[in-house]
Amino acid sequence: MANTGETQIKVYRAEDAPQRGLTGEAVAVLGYGNLGRTAALNLRDSGATVRVGNREDEYAGRARDEGFEVVPLRVAASDDIVFLLLPDEVIPTVFAGEVASALRSGSAIAFASGYSLAYGLISPPDTVDVLLVAPRMAGVQARDRYLAGEGFWACVGVEAALDLFVEQSVGAILGMAIMMAFEVGREAGIPDEALVMEMYMSGEMEVVFRSFRETGFFRSSEDHGPTAVFGGITRTLEMDREAMMTAFRKILEDIRSGGFASRFQDEARSGYPMLEVAKSIMHGPSPIADAEERIRRLVESPKRGSERPGGA
Ligand code: NDP
Repeated sequence: MANTGETQIKVYRAEDAPQRGLTGEAVAVLGYGNLGRTAALNLRDSGATVRVGNREDEYAGRARDEGFEVVPLRVAASDDIVFLLLPDEVIPTVFAGEVASALRSGSAIAFASGYSLAYGLISPPDTVDVLLVAPRMAGVQARDRYLAGEGFWACVGVEAALDLFVEQSVGAILGMAIMMAFEVGREAGIPDEALVMEMYMSGEMEVVFRSFRETGFFRSSEDHGPTAVFGGITRTLEMDREAMMTAFRKILEDIRSGGFASRFQDEARSGYPMLEVAKSIMHGPSPIADAEERIRRLVESPKRGSERPGGA
């Protein structure tokens, strides 16, 4: 689509794609996880003929339950369009072992992340087209938005560094800020429930991020009133901006140089020790998780003081 002339990125909308452009093409989605399931369902609902490539396990079972033919990865890789939706660090091994030799000349292989290509972890043959369709949305929400007719943004050509950089800088700082504010607040005697409620359980933060998008990152601050603006700007100015800029530059450089990818591949080869630590934090007990649970129970418990049936 023609650009507005003001952006440096080229934007395509659904109307720019040929209607039913995938008619007659055999599309294989390899992997039925977070994004694989969404891609397979959305493509099928858009009229494509889709089958799923997966190992025989619970993901395969779920795909069958949802009406897909499930075949081994090697078989699926011989379709016209092969959407490779396996975990990034797994793609190099599976690509070399089961996908590369099965790809047909003239077919296309698509990825949802530039990771394995950008860091030279795989080299698709010259006889196939290579596509990138990377939703800017987690798989579950991408499905929800498709069903709601809302659509979602996706990058069709972007360096892998952008995605990694934002999740390792903004994502890491946000996570750390929430954990530190929780610790400091409870040290000072603020109830755990009040802390998680203030930070995200009330849903206010979602509205804040939505207004970044709709009103603008800077302009939306006005919605919160002068007290919040004064507090926010003065505290921001007190922060060590240079230290944070230096840390972010280091992160970006490490990503661009392939340092991060090399460590992540080592992590996969060693059986994911760090991801095991992360999982034990994510699923283990913690004061934050306990407080969230108590708030959920409060929300779900029968309403007191609400209207009784029949009036009053
Ligand atoms: P998942 O971790 O959800 O992938 C799980 C799928 O991969 C399952 O079908 C699983 O099947 C299969 N799988 C895992 N390990 C292996 C293996 N060793 N051999 C064969 N199959 C395996 O991945 P995501 O959906 O999160 O990510 C897929 C791609 O999409 C990545 O490139 C990611 O960067 C990108 N992406 C993901 C987003 C998201 O929402 N998560 C958003 C945007 C992009 P099995 O039962 O066999 O293990």
